[in-house]
Amino acid sequence: MAGTAVLGRLTWLVTKVTGGVEETSRVRTLLLEASGWQGHRAGQHLDVRLTAPDGYQAERSYSIASAPGDPLAITVERLEDGEVSPYLVDVAREGDEFEVRGPIGGYFVWEPGDGGPLLLLAGGSGIVPLRSILRHRERTGSTVPVRLLYSSRTLDDVIYRVEFDMAASGVEVVHTLTRHQPPGWAGYARRVDAALLAEVAWPAAGTPLAYVCGPTSFVEAVSQALVQDGYPPQRVKTERFGATGGT
Ligand SMILES: Cc1cc2nc3c(=O)[nH]c(=O)nc-3n(C[C@H](O)[C@H](O)[C@H](O)COP(=O)(O)OP(=O)(O)OC[C@H]3O[C@@H](n4cnc5c(N)ncnc54)[C@H](O)[C@@H]3O)c2cc1C
Repeated sequence: MAGTAVLGRLTWLVTKVTGGVEETSRVRTLLLEASGWQGHRAGQHLDVRLTAPDGYQAERSYSIASAPGDPLAITVERLEDGEVSPYLVDVAREGDEFEVRGPIGGYFVWEPGDGGPLLLLAGGSGIVPLRSILRHRERTGSTVPVRLLYSSRTLDDVIYRVEFDMAASGVEVVHTLTRHQPPGWAGYARRVDAALLAEVAWPAAGTPLAYVCGPTSFVEAVSQALVQDGYPPQRVKTERFGATGGT
């Protein structure tokens, strides 16, 4: 029943951390078990709510890193002066509990029936929902061609690096490192702009479907460049990782 499903998404569920993976020195994936969780679609996010012993609460949004059908996971980047992310990255460990609600979002999602070719564009932790989409593609046996253009500050900041080094068939991964490149680096070494997109993006004539995710400034610049390049706005889906704030 639709009403029950909506109620489920809006209900805070107690969630236990069942494991974690250190992705980079600032980024950690948390595996979660939320009793009553009704499943999710690739690209959706959830809300996390932390409650302090004095009752103070803080909520933030996090994209779901896992594919539908896999154990629920989020991947969080620590902001040094942040309220919630340092807890999730540095403190939360197996057996700890907090609350989540979701899944949230029906726009920034991909199903094999949506087709492609897919152009995935990520800035920093904006890679998280795109990883869910990539895993969903693999799990469902989709052969839709994919190009992923992933912008990171340095090689050490590349999240899921080992996974991307073994990209699935039909998936091309293109990195750009904006701040520092290791000796012999053969990838791009600049911010994503119209000129870089002209080299990497699928031609607009092939009716590609683009998913752009990252900091607001990254998403604005990249999506505008794609539209200027002839991508119809409705074929450019965006997710902005701005501050979610709120308590
Ligand atoms: C739909 C959605 C999905 C998201 N998914 C992820 C995800 O998968 N992984 C992830 O790590 N984060 C994600 N975020 C960002 C996340 O919600 C928090 O904003 C982030 O973790 C910071 O929270 P905080 O409490 O640590 O920092 P805060 O205490 O909220 O902020 C500390 C300082 O950092 C600034 N700030 C806050 N958020 C950001 C940001 N995103 N970028 C730059 N500066 C910021 C604030 O203005 C403030 O100056 C997502 C945001 C949205 C809207």
